[in-house]
Amino acid sequence: MKSTRLVIKVGSALIAPDENGCSTKFMKPIAAFINTLRANGTEVILVSSGAVAAAKGMFNSPTFNQIERRKAQAAAGQTNMISMWSEMLAMPCAQMLMTHQDLSNIGRFQSIRKTLDELLTEGILPIVNENDSVSTKQSRVGDNDNLSAMIATAANADTLILCSDIDGLYTAPPASSPDARKLSIVKSITDDIRAMAGDVNSSMGTGGMITKIQAVEKAASSGVTTYLINGFDEDAFTQLLNGNNPGTLFEPSVKPLSDPEHYWRHTAPTAGTIVVDSGKSTVDKGALEVEPLLDENRIKTIQGDFNVGDTIEVHTSAGLKIAKGVSNYSSCTLKLLQRIDLDAIITPLSAEQLINPAEGALFQ
Ligand code: GLU
Repeated sequence: MKSTRLVIKVGSALIAPDENGCSTKFMKPIAAFINTLRANGTEVILVSSGAVAAAKGMFNSPTFNQIERRKAQAAAGQTNMISMWSEMLAMPCAQMLMTHQDLSNIGRFQSIRKTLDELLTEGILPIVNENDSVSTKQSRVGDNDNLSAMIATAANADTLILCSDIDGLYTAPPASSPDARKLSIVKSITDDIRAMAGDVNSSMGTGGMITKIQAVEKAASSGVTTYLINGFDEDAFTQLLNGNNPGTLFEPSVKPLSDPEHYWRHTAPTAGTIVVDSGKSTVDKGALEVEPLLDENRIKTIQGDFNVGDTIEVHTSAGLKIAKGVSNYSSCTLKLLQRIDLDAIITPLSAEQLINPAEGALFQ
């Protein structure tokens, strides 16, 4: 593995496996890996989960409010986690806590980018986590897999390492499918690859294979190579340092998106979704590629409450995401038009009419 600037994401199960304080057991080999990378001239950013898991043992009284409890645990466990990393890492560390709102605001995104640059130039290791104690359902990223991909984009990193509890992406769950095969290289994220992620969730953190694949997609479209490795296996880190691939390597997109394109596809928060009928009984992806616009499509349902100027997504009734951008209509207006059945007004409705094409992305 050759990298100039790398982001490594470490999940809760590696930091606080007993959910009672941080443990050096798995952190130590990861810290040694980071120390070696730095000594070899690679700039590293660590995205570390584990604050909530580390603090669980500190909270003993019963609670009815799990959300408030989790926010308090995030605050209490964060100091424990940062001090453990600082002890094991051979360079000064800096803490950066952020929410989705910070990353989706262009001014704050630029500010995060500059701070990361400044820290790395000074040889200081940024340790990033979601600011769970202040975030709300609407303002959070929700998982550190996606957060790490956003950080890789913000930092212009070339490599992202996702440390998992499995040594790569398998064609099927290896525990229940004897024929399951590990994929060593994935060139691009297709529907088949998404299906392999299934709905497997980790018991401790918030991610699972789905959030890892979402992260890979974000990272790849920024030109970042992602390795999915088993963070519990010390040998995986040795293999990476020796130039081998111990897990699954996801290749970066051959045509990385510009910052604004990436923002619209992967970062802009969505206030609602419009589901359109493609005009055919089944969605023919080939046809959508040839005719990327939504001409002839009709609105089926309007989900969420949004105003003119809010970001919305357009999906087909088969669940295919076809566009995302700033809405030219409020959900109220669209619902009213639907109710009084003014088909003549809203049909045919093109993507350009629904969303502002200058501020959005068309998915083909
Ligand atoms: N930010 C959470 C924590 O520090 C973890 C989120 C995740 O597991 O992805 O505990």
